[in-house]
Amino acid sequence: MIEMEDVYKKYPNGVVAANGINVSIKQGEFVYVVGPSGAGKSTFIKMMYREEKPSKGAIMIDGVNLAKLKESKVPIFRRNLGVVFQDFKLLPKLTVYENVAFALEVIEESPKYIKKRVMEVLDLVGLKHKSRMLPTELSGGEQQRVSIARSIVNSPKVMIADEPTGNLDPETSWEIMRIFEEINTRGTTIVMATHNREIVNTIRHRVIAIENGQIIRDEQRGDYGYES
Ligand code: ADP
Ligand code: ADP
Repeated sequence: MIEMEDVYKKYPNGVVAANGINVSIKQGEFVYVVGPSGAGKSTFIKMMYREEKPSKGAIMIDGVNLAKLKESKVPIFRRNLGVVFQDFKLLPKLTVYENVAFALEVIEESPKYIKKRVMEVLDLVGLKHKSRMLPTELSGGEQQRVSIARSIVNSPKVMIADEPTGNLDPETSWEIMRIFEEINTRGTTIVMATHNREIVNTIRHRVIAIENGQIIRDEQRGDYGYES
């Protein structure tokens, strides 16, 4: 599903944030990406949704080579990918319903289908009853649940999450993880960068550790592995 081959990324300022990354992630896997600040986790994640382009190497996602993907094709590619951020990135003037419906409206799905699908994913994240509220009327955990609903409304095969629990308290973080587990159980591949040791060591999945732009550890059912 996701293949990186000799991926190298040098930013214009000279920083090498990916230095020969090779990785293969299969359909249905759940992968944590861990490592100290500045290790290159975000760069690794951003290259998967073509927020950053590799300087060298190939990145294949579901058969698409992102290194060669034309700029004009990026929006179409992203529709098949769910992306979740630490800071939610919801549209503040739109209701919960509208934030989730947006992705289906741009691809001109029928109003009937949109309504059914939006309520279905809001139900999955437990927010059906708050569909008419605005993001500012919700807690952080609820906002993250809306952003998860938005990310899966198109039924993507792959979900990418960069520190999705980074702004949330522990209890809320566990709720978010329960939703991720449910989405993964239904067959979606999940790649999640995280600093949350508790979660990584409790809900065991594959762990890829990055340091200095390189994968230094890649273990099935791995642990977080850093002190402090
Ligand atoms: P992490 O997510 O593990 O904290 P990042 O991928 O954000 O790591 O950063 C890896 C390295 O690349 C760091 O040294 C960071 O300062 C640098 N970096 C990240 N983004 C940029 C950018 N847009 N321009 C220049 N350097 C960057
Ligand atoms: P029905 O066709 O089943 O009567 P309703 O129009 O009563 O459906 O809506 C069912 C639920 O869907 C409502 O409780 C509401 O929260 C949600 N809903 C439907 N459309 C919207 C919308 N445009 N904005 C916000 N919520 C909506």
